Amino acid sequence: MKVLFVTSEVAGLYKRGGLADVSYSLPVALAKRGVKVGIALPYYEKIKVHPVHCVGQLAIDYDRRRELMFIFKTTLPGSKVPVYLFRHPLLNEYDGPDIVERFGFFAKAVAQLYLYSDAILGGPYDIIHCNDWHTALVPLLVGESSKVGYRERETIQSKHAKTLLTIHNLLYQGEAGVSITLKLGFPKPLFHTFMTPLGRAVRLLTEGFEYADMVTTVSPTYATEIMNGDHGVRVRDIFDRRGDMIAGILNGIDTDLWNPETDTALPVTYSARTVAVRKKHVKQQLQKAVRLPESDVPLFGFVGRFEARQKGLDLIAGAIDGLSDTSYQLVLLGTGQPKLVAAFTALAERHKNIVYINTFDERLARRIYAGSDIMLVPSKFEPCGLTQMIAMRYGTLPLVRNTGGLADSVTDGKTGFVFGPYKKSALVAKMNDAIGLYVSSPGKFREMIVRAMKQDFSWDHQVKAYLSHYKKLIR
Ligand code: ADP
Repeated sequence: MKVLFVTSEVAGLYKRGGLADVSYSLPVALAKRGVKVGIALPYYEKIKVHPVHCVGQLAIDYDRRRELMFIFKTTLPGSKVPVYLFRHPLLNEYDGPDIVERFGFFAKAVAQLYLYSDAILGGPYDIIHCNDWHTALVPLLVGESSKVGYRERETIQSKHAKTLLTIHNLLYQGEAGVSITLKLGFPKPLFHTFMTPLGRAVRLLTEGFEYADMVTTVSPTYATEIMNGDHGVRVRDIFDRRGDMIAGILNGIDTDLWNPETDTALPVTYSARTVAVRKKHVKQQLQKAVRLPESDVPLFGFVGRFEARQKGLDLIAGAIDGLSDTSYQLVLLGTGQPKLVAAFTALAERHKNIVYINTFDERLARRIYAGSDIMLVPSKFEPCGLTQMIAMRYGTLPLVRNTGGLADSVTDGKTGFVFGPYKKSALVAKMNDAIGLYVSSPGKFREMIVRAMKQDFSWDHQVKAYLSHYKKLIR
């Protein structure tokens, strides 16, 4: 079985968040199971990788011009998985104006590459596995590029390759003005357009829902939530029409890459057997590095994007007023929305027990995962969330809200702390429970740490679910 995994970010090459982790670890896990998997990714200027060589070129009609795209090949660092990098000036940067159009262009290139798969990819792939809105246009375009007249075309089924779309976050849908259809050079009736105050528009993610052969998301609870419309987006109509459901498969993590026994970013390594003795050194070194007093109060950590709509940072900011400064410490690492960055910079100036570091730093993230006692993940919604799993692997108890993949991976009082309502008071109460347990029942706290470390979040189980979906598709 051959699977082309199409994505906008891959850990080790270009990372912005959890999608990059999954785009690394899932292909590696599939390859271990004998799947011939390749990855397709834009060749952003920031990607520095060697060796890399050009394996072909494509001519792509876009915006009434013929564009030349070069395809480079490398391997995923630390593995043998081939990565196809799409080099074109429009794809030099991830961010920037016209981001949706540019990823539409990338999707067209991927679909076009499929026509030349013998020459460039060493033969056709059975499945094209797309991820999020950036690549959600591929299912539609694969059918079209294969010269299937859209009038004869069955709505959902691409006749030439089977496509699977995984939603990592429904918040981002890739909305663009309807002129994108002209730029791509495909007939407007193929797209599901709608009116906005600025005129007619399309959503790339919706086109993926309409045309992909199968749609999955990254946890069972999030699948149920989005089918119920819990997060304000109605997808049920599309899936009812398709007579289909969104399948939820919990993400895994690469337990070799995230391993406290071998992590070179840590001043001291440890296992479930040595955690009780060694983890406190990591905590002390972290306190020293981020200039927190080296006291033995519980240290809370937060690593994540500063995204106001999702990550629960407003709850954290609110909770700080409800807690005594001397009872805990908090270190936050993250970049994102300027308003939130300013608010937390100001909070950290006012509170001596709080440090906020506004940068993207993988090694520091690892030290926070290992050196904290409790990892805060109070998200309003969380499709899967990896930080809570990484934290458990490092013997740091996650404190999460009962939503999406957080609900599917943390058990209250056993492997972490879980609160329900999205309210500041609920977070404060749970943080106080955690602080109380740390101070008054260190034995129970240690037991929970060891239990959390023994949870298996590797891909070993979850990859089987993807394999069975792939098999269903090509049957
Ligand atoms: P999301 O995909 O919504 O960003 P996840 O919890 O699924 O959230 O994954 C986030 C990933 O990004 C984790 O690997 C986390 O360690 C990493 N990450 C987020 N922000 C930073 C940062 N500022 N520095 C280093 N790593 C970060």
